[in-house]
Amino acid sequence: MFAEDETIEPIDTCGCGDIGYLTARTVPIDLAHGVGHVNNVPVYHCRSNSCQQFTLPSLVSRRLDSIAEELEETKTTETIYSFKNDQERNQGAYTPTLDPLRRTNDQTHIEAFTFQFANRQYEDARVVQIVPGEAIFFQSKFEETEYYLLRYEEDNRTEGKWFSFLKFYYEEPDLTYQDFLEWSEDGHLKELGRITLDEVEDMLIDEFGEWA
Ligand SMILES: [Zn+2]
Repeated sequence: MFAEDETIEPIDTCGCGDIGYLTARTVPIDLAHGVGHVNNVPVYHCRSNSCQQFTLPSLVSRRLDSIAEELEETKTTETIYSFKNDQERNQGAYTPTLDPLRRTNDQTHIEAFTFQFANRQYEDARVVQIVPGEAIFFQSKFEETEYYLLRYEEDNRTEGKWFSFLKFYYEEPDLTYQDFLEWSEDGHLKELGRITLDEVEDMLIDEFGEWA
């Protein structure tokens, strides 16, 4: 188990020493019965095509230890990364609730939800950055200064989980979350709408086309 207040930062260091951006990749894993593979593991990578290295967020590497045990128990070698094991999920950790004591579980849910967008490509836009539990950044495939942001809006007064959908133009070649936060304090963002978690997938397909 990891500490409940631990989160994954959007930026850390790649295995090569350069800035590492949070993304997802298939990671080999040593098992008692051979080498396995875990797909869609959160990693930091420098975005350089020639760099084969990466680093793992610490909670992810601990989670991989439990995934290895699960794979050894079931004698399988291939799985998809998940933040929680099935047992915890079945105990209701994913049930939405407004109870503040259960908020950490909500946070984990939003984190896992945002993370599944890593590397996703739509017809008209690609996901360029994920801030787990907070935000997903999309960049237009036709106009490289055109960005969209899906941002989790924490609001315990209303039922459901809400996101705002925003559009902005950003001229710098690389978008980092820290720079973005400072820059966006001066406005620059145009809100296109607010939607619930259940509406996110359909809305993105309406906006950007199907994803591959
Ligand atoms: Zn690198």
